[in-house]
Amino acid sequence: MDLSEDKIDIGEVVNACMRMVRERAKSAQVFLSIEPLNGCPGLLADERRLKQILLNLLSNAVKFTPPDGHIRIGANEEANGELRLWVEDTGIGIAPEDIPLVLKPFSQVASSHTRSHEGTGLGLALVKSLSEIQGATLDIDSAPGKGTTVSVRFPSERVLRG
Ligand code: ADP
Repeated sequence: MDLSEDKIDIGEVVNACMRMVRERAKSAQVFLSIEPLNGCPGLLADERRLKQILLNLLSNAVKFTPPDGHIRIGANEEANGELRLWVEDTGIGIAPEDIPLVLKPFSQVASSHTRSHEGTGLGLALVKSLSEIQGATLDIDSAPGKGTTVSVRFPSERVLRG
């Protein structure tokens, strides 16, 4: 894959992705919110691929969060200089033993909720490779019945301050 790297305005990318899932969230009766992103540094990344990453994560959050749930998206600079982009939901969650599994292509974990949602099982595997080709890492923090937070961490060399 050829990367097209540019200075990205995280606020703009996040807003664009939120606009794309707003209608779906509304039909699913889940609330969407953005953490304030003022002061967020720029990022050297591939804008189209960054959007694919965030859109996949937001789409999953909408799919796996029952009505009245909440989805938040945000970005913050970590103490070690990494830039973390995250999508958090209050949905059905993923069992700890299933986390390595859902990162593999074509895998979905069995649950009545999953079966009621058609999917390819490719989304997270794609998000992982789209992150890794940009030097970022992906991690999933989840608790069944409570929710899921997926974080993508970009190394400090890609963070453009000032
Ligand atoms: P798909 O959404 O097409 O099934 P993904 O690779 O995006 O494929 O996700 C794989 C599986 O991981 C899903 O089928 C679901 O079981 C689980 N999953 C992904 N995101 C979430 C989430 N936000 N909350 C709960 N489960 C999730």
